[in-house]
Parts: sequence; structure tokens; C-alpha cells
Amino acid sequence: MMIDQVMELHPGIRYFHIGADEVYHLGVCERCKRRMSEENLSPQQLFLIHVKAVLGHIKNTHPTITSIMWDDMLRHTELPILMNSGLGDMVEPMVWHYLSDFRLPIDIWDKYSKVFPNIWFASAFKGATGANAYATNIAYHLDNHTVWLDVMAREGSKFKKVQGCALTGWQRYDHYAVLCELLPQALPSLGMCLMMLQQGSFTAEVHTSVSQDLKFLSPIPLNPFQRYPVPPCQFPGSEIYTSLMAFLHLDATYEEFVRDERVLTWMNDYMMEKRFSNPVHIEPILAQCYGILDGLTKIHSQLEKALKEVFYDHTVEEWLKVFIEPKIRKISDAVEKAKLQLSNS
Ligand SMILES: [Zn+2]
Repeated sequence: MMIDQVMELHPGIRYFHIGADEVYHLGVCERCKRRMSEENLSPQQLFLIHVKAVLGHIKNTHPTITSIMWDDMLRHTELPILMNSGLGDMVEPMVWHYLSDFRLPIDIWDKYSKVFPNIWFASAFKGATGANAYATNIAYHLDNHTVWLDVMAREGSKFKKVQGCALTGWQRYDHYAVLCELLPQALPSLGMCLMMLQQGSFTAEVHTSVSQDLKFLSPIPLNPFQRYPVPPCQFPGSEIYTSLMAFLHLDATYEEFVRDERVLTWMNDYMMEKRFSNPVHIEPILAQCYGILDGLTKIHSQLEKALKEVFYDHTVEEWLKVFIEPKIRKISDAVEKAKLQLSNS
């Protein structure tokens, strides 16, 4: 069994997280349907029976280890069902919430505290803002942690113990999704969120202290989507951070360019196919293309070098092919078309 293999690889562990989140396809297959109708079970009860079997195995084979599970499948389970499930003695729930405003069921703390003596919570220091986002908006994640600190100050005393917080960081939304925010570029966010939890709130001192620890020459930009120069910094992976921030700004220029009225009017695919356009407009567009292409090519080689120091080749290849190479192709193509257009006129 998978649990036994993981246990064997981690001698001396005190906690084991069984996951058990996002089980959206419960009671769908024939086997489950049959059991539900024979034993008169709801999908939630079917879920609880399975979880109990998993937890029972851990309890029998490793009696000193405390089991943890994600709470989302329990959020809408009624209190009597939860109380009768016996889960209260077997597991500590980890309540995840990654938004910058609190949107969990209002009765969640009263309900959980009646069943579970101890609780954990989980925030996000990267991810949760876009499945293909590649830059971390630190301000958003600081807000998420502020929400958690407020909630725990208000509700934490309902429990015997708030065991701790897991700071999650997402690299992909699922196995079929593209890479999202890479870890090195999110280290400033991780540092800031960790220190904020330690200090109890986000303050100017937290901002300054983390900026100094990561050797930023000026304070870490909290919202990278605002276009100001990226401050020099020095931490493991900082080349990835600075290159990605530079790419983020160039990407905004790229997006403006492809939506530009002049490009859509005098350089759209139809005009290019018919070789019918006005060189007065094509010339400045071409100059802008060269600028963007030059920037993209430089960042591509910078990032390739920086990423290779940290990631496996296939990860580097995937990142570049997903996020930057299609843009280089599109601009190169525009350059060729514009040149052809000008040579015709
Ligand atoms: Zn099934």
C-alpha cells in the first residue's frame, strides 16, 4: 500500500497528511452506486467510510503518528454525520483557503470545534491566482495571510490547539496543466508570508527585513504587475526572479502591441495575405517589432541559463516553449510580413 511505502521512506515522522481533498466524483461508478443503494448511504457517508478505513490503517500500523486531512470534503457535511463518523478521534483537519477575502461557510469553526480538538490551516504563498500565471503577486498572498491571522485570532480559541499553518505553493494546477509560478521567483513572497505569520501582521519592518535578507537594493515590489524597474537582488534563484520580472513587463508591451489599433488595421492577416497596406504605418510597426523581438530574445537566453541552474532540462524546455517561444515566433512572423510589405511598395 502507498501509505506504507511513504512511511518507510520517512522514518521518525510525527504527522501524515492523507490528502482526501477535491473528491468530486463520489458514488459515480457501478460498485459505489450498488453499495450506496444496498446500505442506504449518501456520497458523503461513502467518503467518510473510505477515509476511516485509510485512517484506521495508519492507526493500526503507526499508532504514534497523527493523521491530517484536507477539510474541503467535510465543509458541507452536517454536524451529526461528522460527530457519528468517529473521525474526531482519528484525524486533524487542515482547513485550506487561498483567497484574499474569507469565503468559507460561516459555521465552519463551531462545527469543526465540536468534532475535532485540534486544527491546522493552509494558506498560499504562490498559485491560486491563475492556472497559467508565471509571476507571483505578493500583495495578494499577504492579504490571504492577513485573512488567516484575523480568522485564527477570532476563532482559534474554539479549539484545544491550532497546530500550525501549511504555506502551499503551486507549480501546476493539475498533471495536465502547464507550469505556473516557479518556486525561485516566489521566494520573496514565501519569505514575506513566513515572517508575517511569525510577527502576527504585515508591517514595514517585515517588508524591510525580508528585502534585506534577500539582498534587495530597494524594498521588494509587492505587486510585480505595476511597471517599475526591477530592483537588483541576490538570493538563490534571484536571476530567475529578475529575468521573469523583466519578462512580465515586456510581455505587457507585447500584449499591447498585438492589440494595437495600427497593427489590427494595417497589419492584420488579411492585409498581409493580399499584400495591400500602407507603408507609412508599416514602418513604425516594424521598428516596434524589432524592439520587442530583441527584448524577448535576450530574456529567452537569460532565462534559459538561469532556469537550467535550478530545473531539469525538460522543465526548462517546457517553460520556454509555453511562455516565451510562441511570442518570439509571432513577432518574428510579423517582422517578415512587414519587410515583405515594404519591399513590395
Ligand atoms: Zn466507485
